[in-house]
Amino acid sequence: MTIKLECKDYGFECEFSIEGRKSLSLIEQLREHFETEHGIDYSTDAVIQMIVNRGHSRDSIRKE
Ligand SMILES: [Zn+2]
Repeated sequence: MTIKLECKDYGFECEFSIEGRKSLSLIEQLREHFETEHGIDYSTDAVIQMIVNRGHSRDSIRKE
C-alpha cells in the first residue's frame, strides 16, 4: 500500500512531497525533511502520530 506524504498537509507552506510504500523508512524521510528544511526536530513517533491523525491506522505502517 502506498501513501503520498505532502509537507503542506503538516502545516508548512512547502511543495515537498514523497510517495511510496507506507513504511517507517518513508516516514523517516519526511521527518528528515522537517528537520533539514524547517528546522523542527520531530521524533519519529511524533511524525507517525501526525500521519495517524490524518486517518491512517498505525498498524498499516510497515515496521521497516
Ligand atoms: Zn517542507
